[in-house]
Amino acid sequence: MSEAVGGGLELRSLTKEFAGFTAVKSLDLDVPKGAFFALLGPSGCGKTTTLRMVAGLESPTSGTITLGGQDITRTKAYQRPVNTVFQNYALFPHLDIFENVAFGLRRRKESDVDRRVTEMLELVELSSQARKRPAQLSGGQQQRVALARALINQPEVLLLDEPLGALDLKLRRSMQLEIKRIQTEVGLTFIHVTHDQEEAMTMADTVAVMNAGVIEQMGAPSELYENPRTTFVANFLGQSNLIEGRIKSRDSDVVTVDMHGTDVSVTTARSHADGEMGWIGIRPEKVLIGDEGENLDAPGNSIPGGRVVDVSFVGVSTQYLVRMPWGQELQVFEQNTGRRRMFRRGDQVELSWRPEFAFLLDHSQDAS
Ligand code: ATP
Repeated sequence: MSEAVGGGLELRSLTKEFAGFTAVKSLDLDVPKGAFFALLGPSGCGKTTTLRMVAGLESPTSGTITLGGQDITRTKAYQRPVNTVFQNYALFPHLDIFENVAFGLRRRKESDVDRRVTEMLELVELSSQARKRPAQLSGGQQQRVALARALINQPEVLLLDEPLGALDLKLRRSMQLEIKRIQTEVGLTFIHVTHDQEEAMTMADTVAVMNAGVIEQMGAPSELYENPRTTFVANFLGQSNLIEGRIKSRDSDVVTVDMHGTDVSVTTARSHADGEMGWIGIRPEKVLIGDEGENLDAPGNSIPGGRVVDVSFVGVSTQYLVRMPWGQELQVFEQNTGRRRMFRRGDQVELSWRPEFAFLLDHSQDAS
């Protein structure tokens, strides 16, 4: 059913000010029809405000919202082909599950209600619960009722505002996959708001990372993770070691950087001027750790002189904190393959990584 063709959602210079405070700053966003799109960012970055403007629950200070080629900026909420699923479900406690899902259809006196509700309950795998009241269901089941109730109105866009926030971690994980399955089956545009990077990356085809009212970067989860363009994105999506360096030279896409006295190579398509300072970013799981002088089996950058200051065994990996000669502590996550011994606190080590695993960021940005 899914087809990602034109007719998507377009936000242009969308801005929202609250009494002199700009919550959303001139946002430009294109969400293709049929996409599973996530708006990801820390609390207060403007995600919910953006979603509420798309839903028509908040009117923009300036800018436009277009859906399927139609300007809906000033269209009333109930006239927009958009539905929202909230974290608190908002189910009717006195109605059973079937009637909760049927509610909108009955109110609009639509036909074929029984068949449509039955099909929808099948889609969310709640057929056997149809005659129960919301209070008799688990949190995950109630969330699926809320989803069914929104989907039965056949919106063009479904907005999900932290829909899994009230669930425990295990249920959250299974609901993430469940919602993704449902989205694939119905082929509608889903816009999911979350502050949980793992959730956004698990569920969405495209993730927009928001910070202080603007979108810092947008792309496929793997693209954002492998090639963050800002220190904020590098730190918000997983963990990163950010090391200061001075750019010395470039040979095609490989840049040589003086990193505290050691020349290291970074593969990057972005242009940086020679002599410029920058941040070398490297994910902890991309760093290899070995005995000093050991020929680590990754051709690339080798940095001696590290000392292990902390070791945590976390099952699938061992996580090291290594103090480098220039005083910075770098994180190293080594997968536990049982291949070799663990290092201990106090051990002298050498770190290494492949140039293509590192990324280079502008120094003008704060690394914290
Ligand atoms: P959270 O994950 O905590 O909900 P968010 O990213 O969704 O955060 P928003 O709810 O969009 O953030 O809020 C963005 C900013 O706008 C916040 O600083 C918030 O305090 C402010 N804000 C939101 N709604 C209003 C309002 N009605 N009046 C004044 N300020 C508001």
